[in-house]
Amino acid sequence: MVNTKIIDGKAIAERIRNEIRDEMDRLPASIKPLKLVAVQAGDDSASSIYTRQQEKLCEKNGIMYELKKFGPDISAERLAGEIEKLNLDDGVTAVILQMPLPAGMDPLALQSAINPLKDAEGVHPANMGRVIYGKPCLAPCTVLAVMEIIYSTGVALEGREVVVVGHSGIVGKPAALLLLDRLATVTVCHVGTSMAGMLESHVRRADILVVAAGKAGLVPGDWVKEGAVVVDVGINRQGDRIVGDVGFETASKRAAYITPVPGGVGPVTTAMLLKNVVEAAKWKIKV
Ligand code: NDP
Repeated sequence: MVNTKIIDGKAIAERIRNEIRDEMDRLPASIKPLKLVAVQAGDDSASSIYTRQQEKLCEKNGIMYELKKFGPDISAERLAGEIEKLNLDDGVTAVILQMPLPAGMDPLALQSAINPLKDAEGVHPANMGRVIYGKPCLAPCTVLAVMEIIYSTGVALEGREVVVVGHSGIVGKPAALLLLDRLATVTVCHVGTSMAGMLESHVRRADILVVAAGKAGLVPGDWVKEGAVVVDVGINRQGDRIVGDVGFETASKRAAYITPVPGGVGPVTTAMLLKNVVEAAKWKIKV
């Protein structure tokens, strides 16, 4: 049996927040105070919980926060207009567009309305495009969290077999690209891999396994290679419990490092949102 280390996402997040506060102290007064504005259309309860978390997090870390809330009947044109006002407002450092949007609105079209240099979540197509060139300006927070977690283990990526399960535009694909840039050998698995009955064989050879499918138990723990690093991005509700995509109990006896769910990727992702706000502030003086 391997001596497994359960990765403490909360401790990593705490370290990042401390680094961010130090970095903010060093920023020139001309770009302070930093301010994050969240734009919410409609009344989704999960989205409202998230905005309250953002507000608390910003308050605790010296970042101003404002929620601009609109009714579910706002038109896409007007919402884009409101985003444009924030783009032009010098007092706004970064903008986050809350999901889900009211039915019928195209998330990508509205995310594209955010100035890429104020794109707190790193979801603007221009930012996604820069990931391809290995020069992210503001990258998606979850993917930054995955990378930070892997770095925290000290395990080198160069030449290692990395398997990413899930190829969504927001997690799997950009994660695969950033991992490629660290010279890992990256395999990306998805529904087609499962349909071909090949998921298990790919997972079994992963030195570093990143799972972001949103399917509880998709990766049984006994598929995990002994000594692997396992980053479980998945969030699944099972009764009153939240679980990941990997069978944690067995996997945690085989992996060298593994993230728990909850308490793994989630807290690091929210810390990365703050980091992106600071990065956005720095872009203000770079361009
Ligand atoms: P999506 O639903 O957009 O993507 C899921 C991906 O998993 C798709 O690429 C899909 O493939 C793949 N997939 C689904 N079923 C299977 C299967 N049976 N075998 C192989 N691949 C499969 O989700 P996201 O990428 O947005 O999020 C993934 C998970 O991560 C969710 O649980 C989400 O809640 C969580 N999450 C967690 C965050 C955190 O901070 N911890 C932040 C963001 C997301 P295909 O497209 O081919 O169907």
